[in-house]
Amino acid sequence: NGLHLSNSHHTTVTPKEDAPSRNLKRTEFLLDRNLHKSFPLVKSACGNYINLVDGRTVFDATSGAAVSCIGHGDKRVIKAMYSVLNTGIPYLATTFWACEVVEELCKELIAGTDGKMARVYLTGSGSEAMEAAIKLARQVFYEKDPATRRVNFIAREGSYHGNTIGALGMSGHPVRRAPYEPFLMDNVHHVTACNPYRQRTDGESDTSFVARKAAELEAKFQELGPETVVAFVAEPVVGAALGCVPSVPGYLKAMRDVCHKHGALFILDEVMSGMGRCGTLHAWQDEDVVPDLQTIGKGMGGGYQPVAAVLISSRVVNILLNGSGQFIHGQTYQGMPVQAAAALEVQRIVREEGLVDNVKRQGLYLEKCLRSRLAGHPNVGDIRGRGLFWGLEFVKNKITKEPFDARLGVAQRILEAAISAPFNMTMYPGTGCADGFRGDHVILAPAYNVTKEDIEHIARVASDVVHLVFRKLVNL
Ligand code: PMP
Repeated sequence: NGLHLSNSHHTTVTPKEDAPSRNLKRTEFLLDRNLHKSFPLVKSACGNYINLVDGRTVFDATSGAAVSCIGHGDKRVIKAMYSVLNTGIPYLATTFWACEVVEELCKELIAGTDGKMARVYLTGSGSEAMEAAIKLARQVFYEKDPATRRVNFIAREGSYHGNTIGALGMSGHPVRRAPYEPFLMDNVHHVTACNPYRQRTDGESDTSFVARKAAELEAKFQELGPETVVAFVAEPVVGAALGCVPSVPGYLKAMRDVCHKHGALFILDEVMSGMGRCGTLHAWQDEDVVPDLQTIGKGMGGGYQPVAAVLISSRVVNILLNGSGQFIHGQTYQGMPVQAAAALEVQRIVREEGLVDNVKRQGLYLEKCLRSRLAGHPNVGDIRGRGLFWGLEFVKNKITKEPFDARLGVAQRILEAAISAPFNMTMYPGTGCADGFRGDHVILAPAYNVTKEDIEHIARVASDVVHLVFRKLVNL
């Protein structure tokens, strides 16, 4: 298929030097996230490899930000995008027009839920999908009664739902919230995350842990007034905020039951954990806990186009159909044919090549390899995840689970070592949530088509990087 998938790059790494990358680029005109850092200049990419201007080839063990789920440069997807561009309609105003490829994409997405969701609202990013879900949830109650008292949302600590004001307001991420706190909705209330590593008491069973979480949610409903709550929002497997923390079995169902008992909606944010990433097409399919609204993004378009969506249950659609018949929301760039063509082809590839099964199989192997290499490391507090979505949480002290001082930038050091020679592999860093303002983790989230050899390479390099970085930290 012309993809550069050979394992020839998987050489054993000997961490003898920390060679700084040549050809780093500090952008002079682009305002990027970090104004002081330089980044390796990328020339091209193919399969799971990124080729740099300095001649190095880097293995993409994170699919970028858990996005490039079928790898880079896929000819089928590029061809599908071209064929839409050639029709002269990369963009159509959804105010006037319908479009075949957009309809096909929505049909494919609904089929992937086994018909348990009914409609798709397309957006250009995960944050926009969250904004749409927040507004749609509220509109549902407004449709029934414009004087509705349902004005409150309940979300969770240790969560990330996006960077726009509404989505950030949902997010339980103190560091990212801090500068904007005065603007964030004050009718979003947070309960604790579902994070057994930091919260489970000695010998506590899943059942009693889940019961404790459900009781906390119930208490929050009672505190706010159950008739004032619009929805509860959660990531089934927490991504960027905590680093791949799956819900404890039974948790999602228990939380949904509390919501439904009080007539509130149950919203799942699967922007990062969904679309096959966790070994089922949708993370909720692991325990068949169907949400009322669900956001998806990232792996939906595999990075070929900016595309995301809200999947909407028939319960919600019917309220709109029997009410005003419209969602009072909309953006210029949504449901673009070229976006739809990319996402449709990515989804067809994932389905036709049985990639979600590969995620499950290789994910189990990745877990085994990571545990055997890193479980004994004194600074690796926790190894957790599901499918091809694995997080390593770093601690200063394994017994007390005390995080490192944020100023040490542990997660960033891991990334910088990993992406440099001789390791040449991406590791996705995250900070700031484990105990409120501190905490370091990295995420591994390779493409769904990885082989056994790729997994061994990822675990070996991750382990070598972790050992090297902490050896250096001790000597600081
Ligand atoms: N929700 C979750 C769970 C996410 O992980 C992200 C992005 N990391 C978002 C929402 C926001 O998506 P985007 O960056 O595409 O706006």
